Amino acid sequence: ATPARPAADLRPDDVFIAVKTTRKNHGPRLGVLLRTWISRARRQTFIFTDGDDPQLQLQGGDHVVNTNCSAVHTRQALCCKMSVEYDKFIESGRKWFCHVDDDNYVNPEVLLQLLSSFSASQDVYLGRPSLDHPIEAAERAPGGGTVIKFWFATGGAGFCLSRGLALKMSPWAGLGSFMSTAERVRLPDDCTVGYIVEGLLGARLLHSQLFHSHLENLPRLPADAVLQQVTLSYGGPENPYNVVNVAGSFSLQQDPTRFKSVHCLLYPDTDWCPSRKQG
Ligand code: UDP
Ligand code: MN
Repeated sequence: ATPARPAADLRPDDVFIAVKTTRKNHGPRLGVLLRTWISRARRQTFIFTDGDDPQLQLQGGDHVVNTNCSAVHTRQALCCKMSVEYDKFIESGRKWFCHVDDDNYVNPEVLLQLLSSFSASQDVYLGRPSLDHPIEAAERAPGGGTVIKFWFATGGAGFCLSRGLALKMSPWAGLGSFMSTAERVRLPDDCTVGYIVEGLLGARLLHSQLFHSHLENLPRLPADAVLQQVTLSYGGPENPYNVVNVAGSFSLQQDPTRFKSVHCLLYPDTDWCPSRKQG
C-alpha cells in the first residue's frame, strides 16, 4: 500500500486521539496520562468515559466525553464506547482517528510522523495485530452463517484509521450501528473494527511494530528504541515488571508505569522533571 500523496503538511490538530477510560480508572490511570503525554497533546486528545467527574471535566472541558455507556467490562459496554468515539471523530471533521486505552503512552510527534507518510483520503488502518494469524469468526446471518478470516489491530496497543476509510465504515459503525455489527460476530470492539475494515470493506490492516500493549513482553523492547515508538503500555499491579526498559531518575516505585521517565527523556523542560543543571 504505497500512498499516492503523503501529507507532508499534516498538523497535530488533524489527528483525533480517543482515550477509552472508565470512572474507576480516572484516579489510578488518567492522572499520569494527563501529566505526561496528554499535556503535550491537549487539543488532539478526547477522553471517553462512563461517569461524571467534575474535577476531570474542569481540566478537560469539552475534551472529556461522558458516553453514558455502562461502566462494566462487557462487549456491549465497550462497543458502546467505541461507537461514541467513532461518531465524535466523524463529527470533528479531522483527518485521522486514533484509539488508545488508558494504560497507553502516546508519543504525538512520532504518531504525526507515521501518519504523514499516508494520505487520509485513502483506506488506512494501522496497528499491531494481537495474534500472529488472522482471527476466524462466525458471521451470523439469516438462514445460516459463514466463517470469515480477518486481521485486527489490538485495541490495547492503539490503532488508527484514516478519514477516508472511517467514512466507508459508517453503515456498520455510525450512529450506534457498531453495536449491532459487534453482536453479529459476537466479538469485542477492536475485533469488530477489523471485521468491518477487512471482512466487510475488503481493506487491509497495515501491521505496525510501533504500537505496544501489555500483551507483549515490554522489557524486551530495546531501550534505545523506546522513545521512537508510537504507543507504549505497562503490565499494571498484576504484572508490575512488564514495563519498558528506560533509564531515568525515577525508581520503579516512583514511576511504576515508566511513563514519567519516558516523558522526562522526551520533554526534559517539563516543570516536574528532574533538572539536568542540578547536582
Ligand atoms: N475499560 C472500560 N470499562 C470497563 C473496564 C475497562 O472502558 O469496565 C477500559 C479501560 O479503561 C481500558 C480498556 O478498557 O482503557 C482496557 O481495560 P484494561 O486495561 O483494564 O484491561 P485489558 O483488556 O487491557 O486487560
Ligand atoms: Mn490494559
